[in-house]
Formats: sequence, C-alpha cells, structure tokens
Amino acid sequence: MNQKERIIALSNAFGPSGLEDEVVEIVKKDLPSSYEAKEDTLRNLYLFPHQKKKEGYTILLDAHSDEVGFIVQSILSNGTIRFLPLGGWDPVNVAGSAVEILGEQGKVSGIVAAKPVHFMSEEEKKKPIDLDSMRIDVGTSSKEETLSLGIDVGCFIVPATKCLYNEQLEIFQGKAFDCRIGCAALLQTLHEIDQESFLGNAIGVLSAQEEVGDRGSECVARTIRADVAICFEGCPADDSFESPDCIQTAMKKGVMLRAYDRSMITHPGFQKFALNCAKENNIPYQVAVRKGGGTNGGVYHLHNIPTIVLGIPTRFAHNGTCFCAYQDYRNAVDLAKAIIQSLSPEILSSF
Ligand SMILES: [Zn+2]
Repeated sequence: MNQKERIIALSNAFGPSGLEDEVVEIVKKDLPSSYEAKEDTLRNLYLFPHQKKKEGYTILLDAHSDEVGFIVQSILSNGTIRFLPLGGWDPVNVAGSAVEILGEQGKVSGIVAAKPVHFMSEEEKKKPIDLDSMRIDVGTSSKEETLSLGIDVGCFIVPATKCLYNEQLEIFQGKAFDCRIGCAALLQTLHEIDQESFLGNAIGVLSAQEEVGDRGSECVARTIRADVAICFEGCPADDSFESPDCIQTAMKKGVMLRAYDRSMITHPGFQKFALNCAKENNIPYQVAVRKGGGTNGGVYHLHNIPTIVLGIPTRFAHNGTCFCAYQDYRNAVDLAKAIIQSLSPEILSSF
C-alpha cells in the first residue's frame, strides 16, 4: 500500500470509539518489517521494534485510532433508531447526514433524520436543533423490520463517507482525519526512520477511545514507561473562517505544534527542541494556542512524560466529511523523523 492508499483506507475504516477493529487490522497488515504489534484489552495497538536496544531510552509515538461516531440506544416501534453520540458533535452537522450502522449481518446504511422542514411549525423552525430529537431512519417501518437487518441496541454508527483524493489540489476529502491522518503519519514515520541512526527505541501506539475522554492513552501511559512522547493529531484547522490575523492552524501551512490548549501547556524545552528541528530541516510548521480542545498529550504529560503534539490541520474535523492536505501530512512525518533522529540522552536529561 502506498501512502495515499493507506490514508484513504484508514479514513474509510469503520472505527468509532470502542470499536476500532478495522483500523487495527489495516495497521497490523502494514507494519514495517522491523516492528511487531501487540494489542491490549482496550484495543490499544502497540508497535514494538523487534530488536530492542538495551541501553536505549523510549520515545512513544501516539495517534488515536478512534473517530467520532454514535451508538444505538433504542429502536422505536416505527423502526427508527434513537442514538447517543460518541465524542463531540455539533448537532447542526449531524442532521441529514448519511450514516452506516454495523449490525449482526454487516453494515446498514441510514439517514440521520430531524423533523423535515415541511412539517415544522414557525416556532420549531426558529429553535436550535439538538441530537436528542434526531432519529436514524434505515428505511424500515417497524421495530421488527429494523431488528431483521441485524441492528440492535449497542450497535456502533459512523458517517457513511468515502474518501476521495483531489490530485490537482493534493487534498483528501473524507471522514475521520482526526486522527486517521495522524495514524498514517505515525505508521509512515516508523517505516522511514533509520533504526541505526539513534540510540533510543521508538514505540508506536494507536490508542483507542480518545474521543470519549482519552481513555486508551491513560492505559498506555500506565503500560509504557516512556521518556518522551510525540502525539500525532488530525487537529482542527480554522483558516476557512477565522480572521487572517488570528488563524492558529491553516491547511497547507505545515505541521502544527500545539503550544497550549485546555489539556496541556506544552513542555517549553521539548517544544523549542522540536521547533529547532523544523527550522534546521526547512520543514514548514505553525504554532497554535487554542482556547479549547485537548489531545492525548494532556494524559501523557501528567504521567511525567515530556510531550509535544504534531498536528496535521484538518478542516471540519468533527464533521462527517473533512479535508486535509498531503503536504502537511508529509511535514509531520519529516519533523517526527528529524526529532527522533536528533534526540540523545543528553538532550532528554535537559527536559
Ligand atoms: Zn483527535
């Protein structure tokens, strides 16, 4: 699989929080020859080098494998489905979208239905829309008919979006780039790093359940004693609506290094080292200070692990369809490689 094919496959994979299986399977089939994979019960997938360097320190590379989705809560007598969100959705972006439900007999397509405009009163038209009032319609007319499709309480749901690559613009349009573009960058970094060029051990982890509260990374932090962590993210880009003077994260402006968000104030020493690596290697980058948001970095740094976040700007990150650029993905891979190959025990001890 080449890099673009891998990004498309990862974007298309069905992997809401708690059911990251398809993502895990894709990565297990595409491991660098020098790596082996192990899973834990939370569905975290660890990528360990075959040959562990005895004296080496540990560099943890993280990207979360889950995507925002939904879960079936109940099936109503008219056949429609009541659901709960997995992760942060803006209801405005949910209504009307096509979804896929993974049932006993495979995937079933449906539509998220809010009350159609034809049947709304003038009062209803003015009210903000909420997820509670929405149902998923799979085209059936009774509860029995919906059950007969293999759908039941507890089934997982994701947007029905097929990933496209625009050759002219060199951008991907698909779902779940938060954080599948990060998963792709992590895997490519492990494929490209020269194991002989640094002393440490680079361990990858595709962490589960980030979108419901960083649960996978919490388990990883207790399992792997890392000396530093690099978190890849498909991070929200604000360039298509923010005023030009205030843009924090723009598509095609390079890898984003998060300096501040609600979950972490990034380690100044490690951040400076990473920025210098970008400068020395002429890798385009941008630094973001975000009012909201959070990443798995928030977990790792509280386990006493100096952590940075390398973000690949993603427009409309928690929508059913989003954009990201191939060049930003490449900048993230190149910077991760430069950092890994420049770290040393002396530098680590200075953090
Ligand atoms: Zn994310």
